Amino acid sequence: MNPLFLIVEDDLQIRHFIKFSLNSQKYNCVEASTGDEALNILATEPVTAIILDLGLPDMDGLDIIKKVRTFSDIPIIIVSARDQDIEKVDALDAGADDYLTKPFSIKELLARIRVAFRHTDIFNNETQSVYKYENLEVDLVRYKVTLNGKDLHLTPKEFSVLALLLKNHGKVLTHKFILNEVWGSSIDDDVQSLRVFMANIRRKLETNPAKPRYIITEVGVGYRFADE
Ligand code: CA
Repeated sequence: MNPLFLIVEDDLQIRHFIKFSLNSQKYNCVEASTGDEALNILATEPVTAIILDLGLPDMDGLDIIKKVRTFSDIPIIIVSARDQDIEKVDALDAGADDYLTKPFSIKELLARIRVAFRHTDIFNNETQSVYKYENLEVDLVRYKVTLNGKDLHLTPKEFSVLALLLKNHGKVLTHKFILNEVWGSSIDDDVQSLRVFMANIRRKLETNPAKPRYIITEVGVGYRFADE
């Protein structure tokens, strides 16, 4: 089935740019410039993915995410301004799949869409147990990590974080999400500990930890495992 995108964005130029990008891939789209319009469309059209601006004139984009997540798992990709880090994190924690920071290119938009569809594709539920990316190989069943053909020793927690990132490769995971999944809690103070922890993993994993190839930092938001 051909996907139907809902573009929720009050800025006409950006909305048209997104529409143009999606149409270039033969994706169909419907447009809304307010939260109210968006909710009406969602109630009447078979929307399969949402591109959502967080700053809408009548509603907080975050409320739309929360509403949608009560009835649907369709991909939601947020479009936000550079100074909206906190909102971005809240949106991801509320169930958005990914985000784009304005201004963004067609290439970035399409890459985020591909990843979001991959992660929500209910028909693609095969569970992968061995991941290979560049010189890194991780076997999630045997708890084995090799880098450049050599065994790499990770602590159980380090392995858990790496496994979590791999299972969601390409998708940004917030600090809070990682802390909850691996440590079962997320008080704000833990973010600093997580940074230290990630620096340790990188020292083991990356040839140049200052320019990581595997674990990418999303400033103010979290981490993602490199994609493709
Ligand atoms: Ca806006």
